[in-house]
Amino acid sequence: GTISIALTLVWLLFTGMLLVSWGIIRRMVLNMSQMQHSLEWQAWHDPLTRLYNRGALFERAKQQASLCQQQQQPISVIQLDLDYFKNINDSWGHQAGDRVLAHVGGLIGSTLRSGDIAGRVGGEEFCIVLPGTVLTEAKDIAERIRQRINSKEILAGKGMTLKASASLGIGCSDEHQQYDFEQLQSVADRRLYRAKQQGRNRVEAQD
Ligand code: GH3
Ligand code: MG
Ligand code: MG
Repeated sequence: GTISIALTLVWLLFTGMLLVSWGIIRRMVLNMSQMQHSLEWQAWHDPLTRLYNRGALFERAKQQASLCQQQQQPISVIQLDLDYFKNINDSWGHQAGDRVLAHVGGLIGSTLRSGDIAGRVGGEEFCIVLPGTVLTEAKDIAERIRQRINSKEILAGKGMTLKASASLGIGCSDEHQQYDFEQLQSVADRRLYRAKQQGRNRVEAQD
């Protein structure tokens, strides 16, 4: 009788210890996978705008460009730069500038379709890659983004609202059967500077 009670107690203790260890290991594995997920997100994204960072954008854009070339699908690239952004920082403060960047990042993200790629490639400069999209469609999308940025006052601080605008340039593989992402981006960049010269707050899709 005493021996079987003792054996039962030992068995209960052993089982209890196993259950506790299993719980601890399970929690550690869950924490590790959450941490890995968060580190991966941080490695690929810009925390301010929640869009891809420069490195991630280039990597994904190059993959998509060669995929489009293989499948004989068009691909368009939009370069977007906020207008007179230095003035926003100078007149309203750097924090207000950051809020504008976050707001614009959100607008760009919510305008795109799944499969489109957007990233912040410089201070107040964004790149949007549209696989399967011809130049005229890309122009419509760019114009929609331009209007959305310029349509509403942005809350830049306590009771402070301001209106931002952006200039956009577009390049498309259709024009010269050019699928090299960096070449397309430089065409888009050239047109973006044309948009700046033509008065800003506009889209340019031609040289
Ligand atoms: P333009 O219309 O010709 O593009 O004029 P701009 O003032 O936008 O251009 P410029 O290149 O002279 O100024 C860009 C400014 O963007 C300067 C820099 O202080 C600001 N900037 C860059 N990165 C950040 C950022 O992360 N946060 C904030 N608040 N400002 C930034
Ligand atoms: Mg600018
Ligand atoms: Mg700039």
